[in-house]
Amino acid sequence: MKYRAIKGVKDILPGETEKWYFIEKNARDLFETFGFSEIRIPIIEKTALFARGIGETTDIVEKEMYSFEDKGGESITLRPEGTASVVRAYIEHGLYNNHSLTKLYYMGPMFRHERPQAGRYRQFYQIGAEIFGEDSPSIDADIITLLMDLFKRLGLNNIELQLNSLGCERCRPVFRESLVDFLKKRLPMLCEDCNRRFERNPLRVLDCKSKTCSEVMRDSPGMEGSRCEKCQRHLDGVIEYLLIAGIRYILNPRLARGLDYYTRTTFEITDKRLGAQNAIAGGGRYDSLVKDFGGPQISAIGFAIGVERIVSLIDMGDKVIPGSSPEVYIAALGEEANRMAFDLLRQIRLRGIRCETSYSDQRFVPKKSLKSQMKKANQYGVSYTLIIGDNELRNGKVILRDMKKAEQEEVDIEDIVKVLVERIG
Ligand code: AMP
Repeated sequence: MKYRAIKGVKDILPGETEKWYFIEKNARDLFETFGFSEIRIPIIEKTALFARGIGETTDIVEKEMYSFEDKGGESITLRPEGTASVVRAYIEHGLYNNHSLTKLYYMGPMFRHERPQAGRYRQFYQIGAEIFGEDSPSIDADIITLLMDLFKRLGLNNIELQLNSLGCERCRPVFRESLVDFLKKRLPMLCEDCNRRFERNPLRVLDCKSKTCSEVMRDSPGMEGSRCEKCQRHLDGVIEYLLIAGIRYILNPRLARGLDYYTRTTFEITDKRLGAQNAIAGGGRYDSLVKDFGGPQISAIGFAIGVERIVSLIDMGDKVIPGSSPEVYIAALGEEANRMAFDLLRQIRLRGIRCETSYSDQRFVPKKSLKSQMKKANQYGVSYTLIIGDNELRNGKVILRDMKKAEQEEVDIEDIVKVLVERIG
């Protein structure tokens, strides 16, 4: 074959797309209920936006960005995530002037030049949400509740919510120091990447997925020993509200996440069945990013969901999504019958019933026998087939065949749409 999709990038084919609609529709419905509006952010941004926002020493910025120079000599990057763009847009358009609380969501492709493996792609899709303008821990619990409610709607029942607080600019350095002390003695046991991370951004070592590093890190100090009183109180508040919402969580003091902008609350939703790439969503609070980007001091919190991984869970049987295969097939035999088939096709579809026909017309295409048309109806797996012949038409009738019962009857042509609506609903 001459052309193939490039490595780590995949087509989403019919049969799959129904699952994507199902996920997106449920997300949109729930976002609306929770008072969110959609924002459509560009796919390209200036490279500096991500370098500054995500953090110069994160894996994403150091190794994974698709960056290029455009014809004007400017360094441009295909977005690796959504938050930096949403924050930029929020400031650029002064959205904080409209409401004290701003709730935004987005959906679309992200690009990271990672090593492709099951559940990890170079172009992948995220559904994300951000809330600006509220410091109360109840908003943290609210956005986590939204996420968990969405997963419940999608039928995901084996997921775990991991929760941590990474503290603030006062207590995180204390944690960093205790981590550095711990890591210093174990550098030879850590992978090459983590040795580099140790120099530049030791917190990143917590995020390493390599087996040996995760084993070493099992005994590492967690954030709980370093958190300041205010940050601890905030975390306790989040937990209190999560309990009111009936959301179960696991405290994970070593949950770091791969982006630098998080402060205080961080969380990740995982499903063990996904293996190494088991996170289906992650997020947290980022109280200084708006200010860092040149905006006012406004706190924010958000999350991003990995859509491909949700689709994998749906494939594991968590939910059966109805496909879009037709429910009715129209077979036509004869010139008048062909025209009637086309008319009925339209009328039936207008009533919201999925319908296909053979498009037979001997004047343009070879004759299609009843046998071949019935074969097609069987391939489609329809519940009903309408058989229209010129003879029946002369008496104002069509044949309605119930494919499951293998029974057929004559129905008046004026009644046929009504009868189908009654039977299919
Ligand atoms: P992040 O933006 O890194 O916090 O990721 C949020 C979610 O996006 C993760 O929990 C994954 O579900 C998904 N995700 C991140 N990177 C990839 C990738 N390379 N391929 C597929 N999904 C990804």
